[in-house]
Amino acid sequence: MMALQGLHHITAITADAPANVDFYARLLGLRLVKKTVNFDEPSVYHLYFGDEAGAPGSILTFFEFPGAAQGRPGDGELHAIQWRVGGEDALAFWEARLVAEGVATGRDGPAVLFQDPEGLAHELHAPPHTGAGDAPLAAAAPDIPSEHALQGFDGVRAYASVPDRSAPLLETLGFRRDGNDEHWLLGGEERTARLVYDRPPGDRGRQGAGSIHHVAWSAADDAELQAVGAEVAAAGARPTPVIDRQYFHSVYFREPSGVLFELATRDIGFAVDEPPESLGEALKLPPQYEGRRAQIEPLLTPLVNPRAAA
Ligand code: ZN
Repeated sequence: MMALQGLHHITAITADAPANVDFYARLLGLRLVKKTVNFDEPSVYHLYFGDEAGAPGSILTFFEFPGAAQGRPGDGELHAIQWRVGGEDALAFWEARLVAEGVATGRDGPAVLFQDPEGLAHELHAPPHTGAGDAPLAAAAPDIPSEHALQGFDGVRAYASVPDRSAPLLETLGFRRDGNDEHWLLGGEERTARLVYDRPPGDRGRQGAGSIHHVAWSAADDAELQAVGAEVAAAGARPTPVIDRQYFHSVYFREPSGVLFELATRDIGFAVDEPPESLGEALKLPPQYEGRRAQIEPLLTPLVNPRAAA
């Protein structure tokens, strides 16, 4: 019996790719593991951050929409990303590091809360809610002690006005309740992640800079993608066909509360088109755009990758 292994990746939107790379790669110490373009709009970036190996469960990606207005999460949208860190010392390290950079922090119980420059909300959790035995997925950054590095996702939070509507489909996907009607766990032997539904704010949501676009759950391969996709369709959702995303294969559908879900495979990975030791340093284009590299590259915003510059 196969089971989805928690989160694969989370995809959000940035209007400012250079500031985005500075925040996630330099300040948070994630590795830029892939620099490519939006496959539907190759004049702008799709940036992937993650742990040292680009492992599923640690991948945060951004579509670049230059000039986009700031978004505002509403009903049926994801609104916060939860990360695992090693312990109380790591929470204190991050509080000090963020405050020293002028990033406001808060606390919710032991969790440290902050936002990126475009308002995307993050939470640092120790101990994590999920899979205490899951391998830590950390990147190596020169000024972040390895024991304090982010260790991959703990979970994700969404707004839903009637979260019970989502329960049957979540159960079809293998989610189980975590001691609360609105807290769910998804995982298996490799990794587990949490999905939390919160009461939505009164205002309608608006996708824009700092918005989370979708969340991808981790499937082994095409066989599991197709099997779970068929179960999702039988449960009344409308999955897309399998789509080739170069670094994984994907199926997308909206769950009943309106959140855009993806299932993504972990059998391809980011080393498929560049060496593991130099992930993220060169602009990688999928085969359909490689012949237009000379036209595409000058359109893209110059970026400074702190790792490549060091
Ligand atoms: Zn995705």
